[in-house]
Amino acid sequence: MSKVKYYYDPDTLSYRKIEPKKSKKYRNIFLFVLGSALFGFLGLVILLNTKWVNTPKELSLEREVRNYELQFEILNKKMEQMEQVLANIEDRDNNIYRLYFEANPIPEEQRKAGFGGINRYKSLDGFNNSDIIINATKRLDIIQKQMVIQSKSLDEIAKLAEEKEKLLASIPAIQPVSNEDLTRMASGYGWRSDPFTKARKMHWGMDFTAPRGSPIYATGDGKVTRADNQSSGYGKHIRIDHGYGYITLYGHLSKYNVTVGQKVRRGDLIGFVGNTGRSEAPHLHYEVFKDGERINPINFYYGSLTAEEFENMLKFANQENQSLD
Ligand SMILES: [Zn+2]
Repeated sequence: MSKVKYYYDPDTLSYRKIEPKKSKKYRNIFLFVLGSALFGFLGLVILLNTKWVNTPKELSLEREVRNYELQFEILNKKMEQMEQVLANIEDRDNNIYRLYFEANPIPEEQRKAGFGGINRYKSLDGFNNSDIIINATKRLDIIQKQMVIQSKSLDEIAKLAEEKEKLLASIPAIQPVSNEDLTRMASGYGWRSDPFTKARKMHWGMDFTAPRGSPIYATGDGKVTRADNQSSGYGKHIRIDHGYGYITLYGHLSKYNVTVGQKVRRGDLIGFVGNTGRSEAPHLHYEVFKDGERINPINFYYGSLTAEEFENMLKFANQENQSLD
């Protein structure tokens, strides 16, 4: 509302209304409209540049970003599941597989080692959502590394298992003659009376009585290193090198069934019982060497004896009888 202005007229001694000029009135209206338009336009510009009002494009972009965030959340959940499965495999690897094959467990720090040095996630930095992208990438990198380490560990285990299998097949583990009721065991390892001099003498192997011509079997996988009668007292004898420091010796044979250099498997027929060399009656004299020392063969029949049979054999082998040499 425009103010009504008055002036004092000395002629009439009264106040009179000032009538505004028409042109001035129109100018004022024009200025008012122009000011309002400018003000409105400025307000609109400000509004469009703030968050309060979004353009359709902005709205669609915002929806897209929210969708990305949701997808990252789902991916993170999946990664968490992967981490759990991997942790379980690593646990079994360290505490069962590696333990069983006597390999040292792989330390946690080594399995989960990060990536030190330069910031490899630099290119992902500097955006609103950099954090979730960098975290997910880091997490995946660690999972990837864990998988590589785990895979290498399993390769190692497979190799060790193969080696162990070979070792188990090589170590002497059965009796060298068929001895189902254990009646063939005649004399054990230890101090025994010499069949010829009757003096007490160390008997370095085990004697198995058996009729001449009874089959003799290799007690583990290996290679025949000797099949001759050039070793004093043993008569016709065979030596098999099993590797891992193990050698077995079979003495007083009547006949060979193998030749030097031949590879044999456990249970292969290598020769026949006889009475050659320093022997009182047909029998097999059997010795087991470990790293050049002759050791008690009684501990190397576990492949063919039950616990009960082993007990019986142990009892019998410990009797201080006369050996057949
Ligand atoms: Zn003997």
